[in-house]
Amino acid sequence: MEGMNQMNDMSAVVEADRAHVWHHLIQHKQFETIDPRVIVEGKGMKVWDAKGKEHLDAVSGGVWTVNVGYGRESIANAVRDQLIKMNYFAGAAGSVPGSIFAKRLIEKMPGMSRVYYSNSGSEANEKVYKMVRQIAHRHHGGKKWKILYRDRDYHGTTIAALASAGQDQRAMQYGPFPDGFVRVPHCLEYRKQWDVENYGERAADAIEEVILREGPDTVGCLILEPVTAGGGVIVPPKGYWERVQEICKKYNVLLAIDEVVCGVGRTGVWFGYQNYGIKPDFVTMAKGVASGYAAISCTVTTEAVFEMFKDDPTDPMSYFRDISTFGGCTSGPAAALENMRIIEDEGLLDNTVKMGERCLSNLQALMDKHKVVGDVRGKGLFLGAELVADRATKEPVDEKQAQAVVADCMAQGVIIGVTNRSLPGLNNTLCLSPALIATPDDIDRITDAIDGALTRVFG
Ligand code: PLP
Repeated sequence: MEGMNQMNDMSAVVEADRAHVWHHLIQHKQFETIDPRVIVEGKGMKVWDAKGKEHLDAVSGGVWTVNVGYGRESIANAVRDQLIKMNYFAGAAGSVPGSIFAKRLIEKMPGMSRVYYSNSGSEANEKVYKMVRQIAHRHHGGKKWKILYRDRDYHGTTIAALASAGQDQRAMQYGPFPDGFVRVPHCLEYRKQWDVENYGERAADAIEEVILREGPDTVGCLILEPVTAGGGVIVPPKGYWERVQEICKKYNVLLAIDEVVCGVGRTGVWFGYQNYGIKPDFVTMAKGVASGYAAISCTVTTEAVFEMFKDDPTDPMSYFRDISTFGGCTSGPAAALENMRIIEDEGLLDNTVKMGERCLSNLQALMDKHKVVGDVRGKGLFLGAELVADRATKEPVDEKQAQAVVADCMAQGVIIGVTNRSLPGLNNTLCLSPALIATPDDIDRITDAIDGALTRVFG
């Protein structure tokens, strides 16, 4: 605390930040003319910055994470108590909160059976890729090693995760990438790629076409977000998931669902895939698992997948030869357990459904009022509004205008997000992912701020 006390003057904190911190996702040249934003405090849906300004956070910590809201003493206490008792022991050892959380989690995921812990969404997905590759080596004679991913989806920031990035601007400067990652088309009906009636089925059939082109004996896994997040909040069209499941079954392709954003209540059910009745082979999760109170991610598999790593106990190469050093921290599952209790006891899934409907209907009203809103979509408290210069051509608005909407909301004290970069493959979609505790007033204040911003920026 001494270091913090030495710096209780916030202007000194901001200067230390400007001098020494390399922020995520920003061109630092900007900090020569504006101050870096330092968030000092949070309570419920609100945060305060170093200048004392209050903001209503409509993006749960910037990247759809703080599902149960800020300032939860019970999570802090659970983590504190656990850390004093036993903070860490990794390798082959388990922990008390790790065991209990795994059991509770699996109870919410019928058909799943095993939880592998690590620290970030990227890592959780990398574990899937490594498991798929090991299965290919040991059970398919080196075949079935390719991993299919979808245009516009995102699975993380490490090099192999970026090899499966459906958002080119995230990957384009970081190649070369490992082999064996193959892209399939996105399923955003608003930006149609096929002029057909059953769009969902058609978009899924495009996956089958890729499997047939690559050779079914080479394809081991398909990874998909249940609802695509950073690619523009894409809710898959009707019929999509049913057909995807059929295709995976037909070609013996393992289905991995990336729940890093959708998981733990965001869409109004525990996991996004449960909206669609699908049976995955892998599920990964991170952000909402402990709502950012501790670092934790999980790679969850079925017993059938797990069994493939026990086939020959005499062979030292048969088990999963992987470790995540901090996957052994007990703070993660201790926080996750309390996070889960809060969601259950406060009825937050129910609230998410209700507030999600309210928010979607408010956004639909904005679409009626502002012709720049070309499409609105969402599931639970995970919503997007796509901005277009022309509804007929669907030409995206200028990126700077989309950013001006975000800046205007910020000036009104409401933090929203946008997927806009004027780079290949993405459009300007305003993104909302408020905490699952949002009230009707919070929702209305968020959409009112967007309403005012759209009027000021577009007239
Ligand atoms: N998967 C999805 C769908 C994501 O949105 C993200 C991050 O935003 C990741 C994976 C990577 O998670 P992390 O940043 O924790 O590595």
